Amino acid sequence: MRLRNKPWAREKINAYPQYITPQPEGAKGRWNEIFGNDNPIHIEVGTGKGQFVTGMAKQNPHINYIGIEMYESVIITALDRLIEADLPNLKLLDVDGAELINYFEKGEVSRVYLNFSDPWPKTRHAKRRLTYKTFLSLYESIMPDEGEIHFKTDNQGLFEFSLKSFSEYGMLLNFVSLDLHNSGYEGNVMTEYEEKFSAKGQRIYRSEAKFQPRT
Ligand code: SAM
Repeated sequence: MRLRNKPWAREKINAYPQYITPQPEGAKGRWNEIFGNDNPIHIEVGTGKGQFVTGMAKQNPHINYIGIEMYESVIITALDRLIEADLPNLKLLDVDGAELINYFEKGEVSRVYLNFSDPWPKTRHAKRRLTYKTFLSLYESIMPDEGEIHFKTDNQGLFEFSLKSFSEYGMLLNFVSLDLHNSGYEGNVMTEYEEKFSAKGQRIYRSEAKFQPRT
């Protein structure tokens, strides 16, 4: 599903099919062909204005990145960044991350990034959190056996919930930091929200979790 909220945003998106893949259902199973190489594909769900995914694509030219953002009025800022940077290894998708299965084949995506996902703090909204078990199952369905989820947030409650969710799903935690910016971790690419929250003195939490082969 595409959320159409600003006609001018739609027009701009339509003008750049080389960056925001039109009719992405038709790209399912063809992403390596679209990128023109066999490099791994990493996606960010909820890419916002695209600072992270653009920075990652610049830093890692041998990885293909796809930034997924469901609001057209937001993704056009990411589009502006991409137009300026003109990176061959980055595409954007204006779709709902809850429908990833429509756009990717099993094994097509080797890593999912979730950065500062909406926390949905009310218990009755837990199913909307992008680390809820139904979302983990969705990510697993488009990744190889040992696909990874790399997650950052400033929200302690969401971080605690997510670690429990990864663990209950049977994922292996390879990395956990309760204070990323003071952890000595190198190569961090900041997101917009990360810059905003860390400037206010908030701690940034980060984890890497890996799916385990089903026996
Ligand atoms: N990742 C960016 C950052 O760290 O600066 C943006 C964080 S912002 C809090 C969360 C973003 O995720 C919003 O732009 C929102 O529209 C997007 N989002 C939330 N749920 C989504 C979904 N199911 N599919 C695609 N985008 C989604």
